[in-house]
Amino acid sequence: MIILVVNAGSSSLKYQLMDSEDGRVLAKGLAERIGINGSQIKYSRPGAEQLVEVLELPNHSVAMQRVLELLTSPECGVVETMDAIDAVGHRVVHGGERFAGSCLIDAEVVAAIRAMIPLSPLHNPPNLAGIQACRNAMPGKPQVAVFDTAFHQTMPAEAYMYALPYSFYAEHGVRRYGFHGTSHQYVAERAIALMGLPLEESKIVTCHLGNGSSITAVRAGRSIDTTMGMTPLAGVPMGTRCGDIDPAIIRFMMNAKSEDGLDIDRMDRIMNHESGVLGISGVSSDFRDLYAAADEGNKRAQLALDMFIYQVAKSVGAYAAAMNGLNGLVFTAGIGENTPALRAAVCERLGYLGIEIDAEANARRGEEVLISTADSRVRVYCIPTNEELMIAKDTARLATGV
Ligand code: AMP
Repeated sequence: MIILVVNAGSSSLKYQLMDSEDGRVLAKGLAERIGINGSQIKYSRPGAEQLVEVLELPNHSVAMQRVLELLTSPECGVVETMDAIDAVGHRVVHGGERFAGSCLIDAEVVAAIRAMIPLSPLHNPPNLAGIQACRNAMPGKPQVAVFDTAFHQTMPAEAYMYALPYSFYAEHGVRRYGFHGTSHQYVAERAIALMGLPLEESKIVTCHLGNGSSITAVRAGRSIDTTMGMTPLAGVPMGTRCGDIDPAIIRFMMNAKSEDGLDIDRMDRIMNHESGVLGISGVSSDFRDLYAAADEGNKRAQLALDMFIYQVAKSVGAYAAAMNGLNGLVFTAGIGENTPALRAAVCERLGYLGIEIDAEANARRGEEVLISTADSRVRVYCIPTNEELMIAKDTARLATGV
């Protein structure tokens, strides 16, 4: 089936038209600066130069309409008419406890995603705008929501509860939800297939290391714990997010800086946008820049890398304990797929689990490869993630009612 995969942000709309059977990408691109001056649409298809069209995009509906025109245009289109698009799959960030899997979108699902806005004020509103834009542009076309949180709904209560008064969970949904679920599920399923172990025996830790990073314990194909929490701010340090900190630090920093007007919004900004490896290094949130700076002797860049590696290794160790064993470890996303030195450094700290890395295999980047030695007690993989394919497959399955 031909599926349009849509990932709508507050001022952007990423899209990919793909064949859900073989994962072939027919066209993809990005509408940027929606509702802001200087908006544009990037459009690319295999074997052709990328088009960049500068035009006014006052809202997501106008952007979606133009994307559909490009996809079906006689000059640069990849399908003849919109009828060739079988269904639309949307990435939706927060599905709360309501969604443990993907689902066809109807008015009730839209209302449920809207009801989840307090838990995800930055992401669910633009996701809804993307859904509405596609409903306007393609009325009657099956639309499917695929949630970042859904895969983690199998976590047991002992892993998802916070030790706060129970009423905050019962009345406001304060608990761990976890994110990057589509990615963790995709690479875990790939690893299970590659390992050839019976599903029930598989104990895998998946490390999604990108701009945002999270680590997940996957036992028998199901998420049993993950480092992100009620929001994507928790867990290991990230590009600009602080990850886990002592919660009392927030009050301390706000008091210490109150004369400078450090209110809760400023605090939130600091923790989300000015912390992580950027905050520590003062150099960049991008690991390529950090490695380059560390190579030139920048001590804070080296510290940021060391902290990240330490916390990732610590999380893997914690999850090996949580699963009472480990037989697979996966690295994925921008950093996990492209940084052999970081993979080697994490694995070096995990020697006690019997992990041994094959230096030659580990030198490969951005491809599906076993990077552990034949003797390693844990099979370690680099597996490029493919959230779009996962979304396309779920969408095809639900749209055909299989
Ligand atoms: P993602 O969020 O998965 O797109 O990952 C983005 C991050 O991956 C960037 O901020 C970089 O830190 C990192 N990254 C991407 N490519 C490379 C590379 N070739 N070497 C090192 N880090 C990379």
